[in-house]
Amino acid sequence: MKIEDLIRPNIKLMKAYTNAREEFNGKADLYLDANESPFGQFNRYPDPNQNILKKRLAKYKQVSENQVFIGNGSDEIIDLIIRLVAEPGLDKIMLFPPTYGMYEVTASLNNVSSIKIPLNCDFEIDYQKVEPLLQNPALKVIFICSPNNPSGNNIPKETILKLLNNFRGLIVIDEAYIDFSSENSCLEFLRNFDRLIILQTLSKAWGMASLRIGVAYSNPKLINYLNKIKPPYNISNVNQNLALEGLNRADQIEQNIATIIQERKYLTLALSAVKIVKKVYPSASNFLLIEVDNADLRYQQLLELGIILRNRNTQISNCLRVSIGTPKENQTLIHTLKELQ
Ligand SMILES: *Cc1c(COP(=O)(O)O)cnc(C)c1O
Repeated sequence: MKIEDLIRPNIKLMKAYTNAREEFNGKADLYLDANESPFGQFNRYPDPNQNILKKRLAKYKQVSENQVFIGNGSDEIIDLIIRLVAEPGLDKIMLFPPTYGMYEVTASLNNVSSIKIPLNCDFEIDYQKVEPLLQNPALKVIFICSPNNPSGNNIPKETILKLLNNFRGLIVIDEAYIDFSSENSCLEFLRNFDRLIILQTLSKAWGMASLRIGVAYSNPKLINYLNKIKPPYNISNVNQNLALEGLNRADQIEQNIATIIQERKYLTLALSAVKIVKKVYPSASNFLLIEVDNADLRYQQLLELGIILRNRNTQISNCLRVSIGTPKENQTLIHTLKELQ
């Protein structure tokens, strides 16, 4: 399917809002066009297109600037993608639970229903079950989370390629945790596949969750449509600047990632030796999914001791999700777990 045929007709037809900083984006002596205050430190609107930040990301990822879109967190991009292609009340998305909750929540908010194909017991996509559904004309977007949250595993490239080759709609690969994985990003697939969006974020490995910087990489046509429907000034100037500073500390970030991966190994071993822990799932991310004897009880006991894990019991029976902390935090966790009765 052509990209134009995927976009909702009202979005193709609508005229985009043009803000003051888009109508004039050069240098001037007097800016009297945007009803800003002439006083103060934060008085000017930010660059609506985040050009400097995009340039920096494009260079880092070796893609063109016009293949980069920045959202107020990946969560904003997930919403924009669904609104771009899925007609409320008619269309559907597909997702593979247990997975990141925002795909379904955002679809529901937009009155778009979710076709859910559960991952198998190894948290892999059961392609046999998916294949017959790919022809459904109402199915517009497939969300793949790899490494998957909360299971932590990579989705094999082979499965992703099968989906890319056989689905006529849009495929979104959410790579929020890719920097912790030994697998390569799917960015290289952008060369051969048009209807593909890769989501990454500065919230996890880059340690900038509070700045809310999510990034989409795709082809320029889809990026342009996302630009057309995004809120005009979706990333604050302060956050654009702080993100740029953060990206200049790539060496430090790489060290931090190495530490987290080392701690992942330590925690995997240490957790496996704790009596109440029944299973530690392998992880390609910065968290571990563990099965315990009684997730609700252990979650509550830890909470009372000041340690908060994510209770995933309703998604995966008796499972807790543990984010990997500093070496000291991880040791505290292990000591505390060993003493639980
Ligand atoms: C944490 C996470 C994100 C990040 O979202 P932001 O809005 O960029 O902070 C995206 N996808 C998944 C699967 C996540 O776990």
